[in-house]
Amino acid sequence: MGDEMVKAEALQIIGLCTSLLPRLVVFDLDYTLWPFYCECRSKRDMPSMYPHAKGILLALKDKGVSLAIASRSPTPDIANTFLDKLGIKSMFVAQEIYSSWTHKTDHFLKIHQRTGVPYNSMLFFDDEDRNIQAVSKMGVTSVLVGNGINLGALREGLNKYSQNLKKLEKNKLQWSKFPKQADSSGYK
Ligand SMILES: [Mg+2]
Repeated sequence: MGDEMVKAEALQIIGLCTSLLPRLVVFDLDYTLWPFYCECRSKRDMPSMYPHAKGILLALKDKGVSLAIASRSPTPDIANTFLDKLGIKSMFVAQEIYSSWTHKTDHFLKIHQRTGVPYNSMLFFDDEDRNIQAVSKMGVTSVLVGNGINLGALREGLNKYSQNLKKLEKNKLQWSKFPKQADSSGYK
């Protein structure tokens, strides 16, 4: 399936999403956008992405969704060279690529500071469960990818995002039923 066909199918999947779309979708690099570790490659190599990756990026951009990268690659120079060679570098509004002891929580803090997008308006794809666990605790809808980003993972991510949004709205509604609870109990 070529990039344009994947893009068309991704647009259809996004179109089925009846609730709000995420404002920002964040991708890991190694084993999420491409099937290798940057540190095991040379800058001279010509990289390739997972077959659905480019079409999905194009479709999200088309729908006005911002894109960002959160990668703990220890070789950001190689990662940047590859993003350039693939012609996708300019698609991302934030690119946080560096190794870190945290499971990407510092990457997301920076992305939030740079973009102003709240955590609960973000969707994140990564192939490592520890990153998914840590980042979802910040309020970001996070999806583990088993074999790189693909149309199935996109569908799963958008569904999970809209479920989380509904939960949030339900909670807000419940709290708004008791606006003066704190005051009437005498505790300020
Ligand atoms: Mg990875």
